Amino acid sequence: MEDLRDKYEVVIGLEVHAQLKTKSKIFAPDGCEFGHEPNSQTSPITLGMPGVLPVLNKEVVNMGILTGLALNCEIPERCKFDRKQYFYPDLPKGYQISQYDEPICINGYLDVKGKRIGITRAHLEEDAGKLVHAGADGLAGSSYSLVDLNRAGTPLLEIVSEPDMRSSEEARNYMEELRNIVRYIGVCDGNLEEGSMRCDANISIMPKGSKEFGTRAEIKNVNSFSALQRAIEYEIDRQIEIVEEGGQVVQETRLWDDNSRETRSMRGKEDAHDYRYFPEPDLMPLKISREWVKEIQDKMPELPQAKRERYMSLGLSEYDASVIVEQMGLALFFDEVLKTGASAKIAVNFIMGEIAAYLKEEKLEITETKLTPENLAELISLIEKNTISNNIGKQIIIDMMKDGERASSIVEKRGLSQISDEGAIKEICQKVVDANPEQVEKYKGGKVQLLGFFVGQVMKETKGRANPKAVNDLMKEILG
Ligand code: ADP
Ligand code: MG
Repeated sequence: MEDLRDKYEVVIGLEVHAQLKTKSKIFAPDGCEFGHEPNSQTSPITLGMPGVLPVLNKEVVNMGILTGLALNCEIPERCKFDRKQYFYPDLPKGYQISQYDEPICINGYLDVKGKRIGITRAHLEEDAGKLVHAGADGLAGSSYSLVDLNRAGTPLLEIVSEPDMRSSEEARNYMEELRNIVRYIGVCDGNLEEGSMRCDANISIMPKGSKEFGTRAEIKNVNSFSALQRAIEYEIDRQIEIVEEGGQVVQETRLWDDNSRETRSMRGKEDAHDYRYFPEPDLMPLKISREWVKEIQDKMPELPQAKRERYMSLGLSEYDASVIVEQMGLALFFDEVLKTGASAKIAVNFIMGEIAAYLKEEKLEITETKLTPENLAELISLIEKNTISNNIGKQIIIDMMKDGERASSIVEKRGLSQISDEGAIKEICQKVVDANPEQVEKYKGGKVQLLGFFVGQVMKETKGRANPKAVNDLMKEILG
């Protein structure tokens, strides 16, 4: 397969659905929190009762604009909603309200690891409900499916990329950065496993050097970044095989099965005209004033790329900066620590070292521990002031996470502070000298390397807490 790969160029475009984190649905007042009793979040609007009217949730529009701006999109002054006709048991109205020819965001792009990926559009729409099929949820052996409409009407933003990606790795990088962005701007959990972010991958191949794209297959049901990459790799090989055997790739929707690691045909892919789109008569076109857009732009938080660059300007490596940005909880905590003026270098060593390891081990988020940014900052200042050594810091950070105790208080209680007081160190040095008259004789007789022995004795006496440089200097002075 590898040499055949060299003959073809791969073309990939992604359609990503992000579930917007609003309190209520896009056109109805029901809540859209996950995990409630089936069909408990279903007003007559969600149930598609005759005569009900949709009312647009303004927060959905705010989040749509914010995401568009983060993706360098234009926000046209006018957008509108359209009906897309489907029949599914979990879509009681018989149509989905979406946006067709006038979406909320157009013409954007995302720069990912040095490559610019165009974003054609992003549009708002409502999600469908869920079917619980026989066999699932204790229905084994039964011959029916159940409908749960809690998810019906949950707001989605569908972000459609240009067919600009040329490898599964580029697709994964794009998807990961998109996930970072929606999480940092607070519009979506970005959880692929739970389905709050879903991705359809459109894939085609063409002979190298060709200008004309091949026919695409659309792959659904990829639930993780690694599954996305595996599904694309599988699909590329499948299409090459077809073409090499003289066949033609058909336009269709295929499902990825991550257990058997293959895609299966699900259905022929509809063209837009099959959906019989028409303007939604129950909703007015939406005017978005420039003031509204500016108001949202002014609230834009720092985006992942800017965060990485700022961390690198503080001396972090590109790798460290990326790793910390990927873990939003840690990055936001790090930012709070930095606000206190603490050393970025020492802070990042703790966060990426002991702290990250502990969180992973205990399966916790940093906010679920008792460590506060102020307490970590205090610990760092104790190290910078030479009150304690870095090693002592590493010993007590776990306790700080568990108990929320301040570093200074632990240090005082356990007597861990470094002894830098000259008088105190001198006293201990004198004690060591007095206790070892033979070594003193030898030292004075020219065996100066015995200095190490004396310093070692002092460190032993102080359990490693004496400032080593001060001990050295004072010991030399006493021995003359
Ligand atoms: P549909 O809803 O019918 O799938 P969209 O326009 O919403 O159509 O999405 C099409 C997606 O497919 C876009 O992400 C686009 O970049 C991608 N795409 C279009 N043509 C190709 C192609 N030949 N190969 C790979 N991807 C393609
Ligand atoms: Mg599609």
